[in-house]
Amino acid sequence: MSYTALYRKFRPDIFEDVKGQEHIVTTLRNQIKADRIGHAYLFTGTRGTGKTTIAKLFAKSVNCENPVDGSPCGKCRCCQSISSGASVNVIEIDAASNNGVDNIREIIDEVSYSPVEGKYKVYIIDEVHMLSIGAFNALLKTLEEPPSYVIFILATTEVHKIPITILSRCQRYDFKRITIDTISDRLRELMEKENVAVEEKALRYIAKTADGSMRDALSLLDQCIAFHFGEELTYDKVLDVLGAVDTSVFGQLIELIQAHDITGCISLLEEVVMQGRELTQFVSDITWYLRNLLLVKTSDGNIEDVIDVSSDNLARLRDEAETLDSEQIMRYIRIFSELSGKIKYATQKRILIEMTLIKLCKPAMETSNDAVVARVRDIEEKLEKGAFTIAQSVVGSSGTVQPAVEVKKEIPKAIPEDIKMIVKEWSGIVSETIPPLKIYLKNARLDLGNDNQLVIVVEDGMAYDYLSNPDNLSKLQTMLSNRIEKEVAIQVQSLAQGADYEENHIDLSKIINMEIEIEEENID
Ligand SMILES: [Zn+2]
Repeated sequence: MSYTALYRKFRPDIFEDVKGQEHIVTTLRNQIKADRIGHAYLFTGTRGTGKTTIAKLFAKSVNCENPVDGSPCGKCRCCQSISSGASVNVIEIDAASNNGVDNIREIIDEVSYSPVEGKYKVYIIDEVHMLSIGAFNALLKTLEEPPSYVIFILATTEVHKIPITILSRCQRYDFKRITIDTISDRLRELMEKENVAVEEKALRYIAKTADGSMRDALSLLDQCIAFHFGEELTYDKVLDVLGAVDTSVFGQLIELIQAHDITGCISLLEEVVMQGRELTQFVSDITWYLRNLLLVKTSDGNIEDVIDVSSDNLARLRDEAETLDSEQIMRYIRIFSELSGKIKYATQKRILIEMTLIKLCKPAMETSNDAVVARVRDIEEKLEKGAFTIAQSVVGSSGTVQPAVEVKKEIPKAIPEDIKMIVKEWSGIVSETIPPLKIYLKNARLDLGNDNQLVIVVEDGMAYDYLSNPDNLSKLQTMLSNRIEKEVAIQVQSLAQGADYEENHIDLSKIINMEIEIEEENID
């Protein structure tokens, strides 16, 4: 039996089935009933909130031969040809892939022909913010004087990128994130139609995870059903399929952060990555975990209903909450929510999380109020434990106290053999550093420069900025010098994106690895 994705199968055919955007649906239906239809609409809001669904329903309604209370009848020729995608009256354009001025000109040329059937030609331009300036200008001309039979529906997730000249010609509708209640009601309704037994708690978890997007909720539910086809869908199964992290990981992570154990945090994250967890989800889960901790911490009554966890987990949360104070938890929540916003569309998710963990372990890197509070708390704790010692001082002959001066040991300068040694041991060296340096060094390429300098070539951008910072550079220099007991001079160079490294450099590690391979062959 073939399985049709819920999102396709239950795409609303009538306005009543569109959930969570009642304010918009009512206005549009009233326009249809009163026959006061506009020529340009702008639908804006987060993904999966029903923009294109409503746009298509609207396109159907305005063309329907027998609309029922502003909704399409679904039976007439126009309705059917639109449903099957055969209608030439509804033109959908994805601006993400057709953003040029030529694409828009093509449309505009067509606009001048009146519709062959039905009353209106409806142009739905999705992701309209992706249009080029030229394309917007071309569109603007048509929006200024549209033929009576043309309707433009522009949909976007990023309304701030739309030129004001376009905005001022559109009726604007803001789509809201759909509430957890509305989403889980809709999911329950569909599961009843599909005869799938499902736990209420499972549905609520999916609704919560979908974060306001009905489309995401349906596709998450699809995944869960596909994994457990023909079985009852329980909360545990959903957690399992969606890769929700066992909450004990969060407890561990928070302990490590409190202990300022950066290495521990990074290797725990490594484990999470190895388990194949989806990192955006991981960050959103930990934010919810912290929110639950805060609720447990600050409320004295019965909070089982507010917190979506089993009684075992609740007991664990209570223990965990004992070890933290509310300000700390709030600081963690703030930092993780910031991360949550950034990570969704980021390509280097793991690095972003690593940086955040470092930030959490080292409040000194932040200047916000609560970071300063965290720093003061650290100092207080250290004072209590007596961890501070007075720095060694030298009493001068005059009796005044002078700070001790660290005497630098004179060591010989590195020769090419030493640089080769560094290249050979590079992965070991890299593994002793911490991110972000670790990542930059790992991806760096090495060459031998003038005066036996070690040339570190990295990509232009963050890596180059970090390494060419004198402080960071001198730390790295000291580390390498200590390692081989020779003075190593480093030169950091950037490689413009897409530039060919081999054109100006030699890849030392390739040569050295080749030597190692040859040596090994000789042993045989
Ligand atoms: Zn119809």
